[in-house]
Amino acid sequence: MNRDELIYYLSGVADDELFERSTAVKAATVGGKVYLRGLIELSNICARDCFYCGLRLSNDRVVRYELSDEDVVAAARYALDNEFASVVIQSGELRSERFTDRIESLLGLIRDISRGSLAVTLSCGEQDEATYRRWFNAGAHRYLLRIESSSPTIFNRIHPSSINFDDRVECIRVLKRVGYQTGSGVMIGLPFQTIGDLADDLLWMKSMDIDMCGMGPYIEHADTPLGSVASMFDREERVRLTLRMVALLRILMPAINIASTTALSTLNHGARLRAIEVGANVIMPNITPSSDRVHYNLYDNKATDLDLEQFDIAYGEQGTSLHYRK
Ligand code: SAH
Ligand code: SF4
Repeated sequence: MNRDELIYYLSGVADDELFERSTAVKAATVGGKVYLRGLIELSNICARDCFYCGLRLSNDRVVRYELSDEDVVAAARYALDNEFASVVIQSGELRSERFTDRIESLLGLIRDISRGSLAVTLSCGEQDEATYRRWFNAGAHRYLLRIESSSPTIFNRIHPSSINFDDRVECIRVLKRVGYQTGSGVMIGLPFQTIGDLADDLLWMKSMDIDMCGMGPYIEHADTPLGSVASMFDREERVRLTLRMVALLRILMPAINIASTTALSTLNHGARLRAIEVGANVIMPNITPSSDRVHYNLYDNKATDLDLEQFDIAYGEQGTSLHYRK
């Protein structure tokens, strides 16, 4: 599909046709199973100041926490016992020897308790190549780093000047070179963003040849600079756009893993299942201990409930990206 066709479908004039096509592509490639990744929100302490995110350094209303080793091990054990086969360690971004060591040691603990049977994904932001290599060698073989928006203009308007578009792209290239199954993604419905930008985001993911994608609606957080800036799309439209983005990406990149995100179900409870029907094949139940979970507020009113019964779950399977395997 070229840019014009993507824009045509994103505009919503042919949803039935689009979803029929994407559903067929999904059935013929990754199939109907849903893979689980237990999400462990390690810490909301962050050194960066992204304009959209509630965890940003300058937000002094956040009660900051960091999970203990015991908490992380308990969450990993929960994932093991419930046959999730895979966990994600996500955190605010810190770049320090202490943080690098901590992640490395947690990876060792998880490897030990699971005897290597839990696939671990990291989502710990921009790091240098040596750090990415250390974590890879310690057992993390998947990494999520969103581009947020593939438009450098938008990227620069939603980040302080200390966060650089080219650096972000380079990090994603490095992750691939190191050997990670590499995931990226964007926020949908950002201020300044148009349908054309979203079409470009899809083409960018294709050109980067990513293995996995997590993308969801942008949701305002009141205590952030972007929280009061208008978006072109209201919340219902962001939900519809996210479903179209998932469907289009499935058609463009049939063999990748695509997550149906928490942000999507935050805006519309039923949409998480709908995204699975039209193209996504991964969900990430939150397994962070609940006393800390309430403080990991990337955006307002984050959804916390998830009913796994509605999905055809591949229990006990790590669900490696077919695209990566090829
Ligand atoms: N610090 C790491 C991981 C945590 S943030 C990082 O930045 O990569 C994980 C993701 O949360 C970000 O990539 C961003 O896309 C998403 N996020 C942050 N604020 C958001 C908001 N207001 N609405 C929707 N998604 C948001
Ligand atoms: Fe920190 Fe990630 Fe939020 Fe940016 S998006 S402020 S790096 S947690």
